[in-house]
Amino acid sequence: LSTADLIEEHRICVCVRKRPLNKKELAIKDLDVITIPSKDVVMVHEPKQKVDLTRFLENQTFRFDYAFDDTSNNEMVYRFTAGPLVETIFEGGMATCFAYGQTGSGKTHTMGGDFSGKNQDCSKGIYALAARDVFLMLKKPKYRKFDLQVYATFFEIYSGKVFDLLNGKMKLKVLEDGKQQVNVVGLREKEVKLINMLTSGKTSANAHSSRSHAVFQIILRRNEKMHGKFSLVDLAGNERGADTSSADRQTRLEGAEINKSLLALKIATISPGMTCCENTLNTLRYANRVKEL
Ligand code: ADP
Ligand code: MG
Repeated sequence: LSTADLIEEHRICVCVRKRPLNKKELAIKDLDVITIPSKDVVMVHEPKQKVDLTRFLENQTFRFDYAFDDTSNNEMVYRFTAGPLVETIFEGGMATCFAYGQTGSGKTHTMGGDFSGKNQDCSKGIYALAARDVFLMLKKPKYRKFDLQVYATFFEIYSGKVFDLLNGKMKLKVLEDGKQQVNVVGLREKEVKLINMLTSGKTSANAHSSRSHAVFQIILRRNEKMHGKFSLVDLAGNERGADTSSADRQTRLEGAEINKSLLALKIATISPGMTCCENTLNTLRYANRVKEL
């Protein structure tokens, strides 16, 4: 089943991306406990010990819409996840793509891109790739006649508060209108005439904490009216334990965002290391449940 078919079914598509072991993990000789035996299966091989001290591997298998191994790059991940949703917003729909996973598993690398120069895959992330395709799509005769304007918003949700990343991190009010519609008051929408801003890495340069969500939106307007909206969300690390009161609020915000969207698409990222096994299993179990929504 392709993502396009899933869109047709209005189903949530769940994909998992494994990153390679990093230098630190290699230095402590962490084991890679994840295999991706086929393009939709993730296996976790957790080392365990019996009471008689014999060692064995406990293997767990998870199936997703798509599983990307550690050789995948952002372009490949994009093509099977957010990519097909660009057409959805041109057709007047709402689409959402979330990156979910433990801190350090590769959410920001996937969404914002990696401009650190540390990686060979020094590439654009899903924000920039989606923006690129939006501008390509605008040129298509079918959509050119709509005379659409492209706007972008970029904000951070931290501890229940919203900060505008396109306006000096200004703190914004969030109002719920009783119909479960959430409005961010005064959020700056920048009209995007040039793709530069989105591809220069600026959108990923903020050092937002692992406990904040970053939301990048591409909004299409036609005669001032909203035509379509694409929300790309780099979620806070899912390992967070304490801080439940703000977590509650954040969860409600996320829930509202999901409800608002016709389509929701989740991506999960996982670390390969044995030391991350517990978090990895949590991520995979959660992502697996999302498929059933
Ligand atoms: P998160 O946002 O989930 O906390 P990051 O995206 O910041 O994690 O990734 C943590 C580190 O791992 C970064 O230095 C990033 O460059 C690197 N990294 C993440 N995913 C990959 C990948 N697929 N390939 C290579 N390096 C990666
Ligand atoms: Mg991050």
